[in-house]
Amino acid sequence: MSRRSNQLDELLQDWLHANSLRKTEVQRQLRDAMDEHPDGGMQTSPEQVQFMGLMLKAMNAKQVIEVGVFTGYSALGMALALPKEGKLIACDISEPFMSQARVWWQKAGVDHLIEERIGPGADSLRALITEGHTGTFDFMYVDADKTGYPDYYELGLQLLRVGGIIAFDNMFRGGDVADETVTDENTVATRALASKLLHDHRIEYSLIPIGDGLGIGMKRDD
Ligand code: CA
Repeated sequence: MSRRSNQLDELLQDWLHANSLRKTEVQRQLRDAMDEHPDGGMQTSPEQVQFMGLMLKAMNAKQVIEVGVFTGYSALGMALALPKEGKLIACDISEPFMSQARVWWQKAGVDHLIEERIGPGADSLRALITEGHTGTFDFMYVDADKTGYPDYYELGLQLLRVGGIIAFDNMFRGGDVADETVTDENTVATRALASKLLHDHRIEYSLIPIGDGLGIGMKRDD
């Protein structure tokens, strides 16, 4: 549901894509392949991936975490924005998805920048803390099970450096967050997270209407 920015009509969306995207050939191929994929709607919108790549470059980011890899499109876009000594820790619970993603990363020549962690996202993040990586990451992108977001948030805040950014995808739930009659657990969890982020003084905060809503928190000095 976040393959496109759902606030835009189709005409403007097409214009935005034609007039702003700078996709590499492999990104284009992956995008096209996902049009045929049964879960292709899970893929992050290209304008959002490009925006995150710009953020990474603006921050001079070297250490990045992604929770929820799917078939690797967002990780590919972020890896392309990293310097040669950069590292992206790619976390996903699904080995089949990770295997599909790996093929694209190899094709694009960025696989050496990506370290795979297969298992529940919170376990992978706890392992990074145990391994001594607290306070070392520049950026974390969360696009996974929505009920897991509170855990990813707390663990992510530990792993980020001061000034580091955590970004949450699907904050709009296709518009369902604003419709109180929608009470599925993912939407309820997303509403709770939105409220938490708004009132949490450990971060600077902005919720951006791109893709399916991107919540951005920057870790403050405490
Ligand atoms: Ca998503």
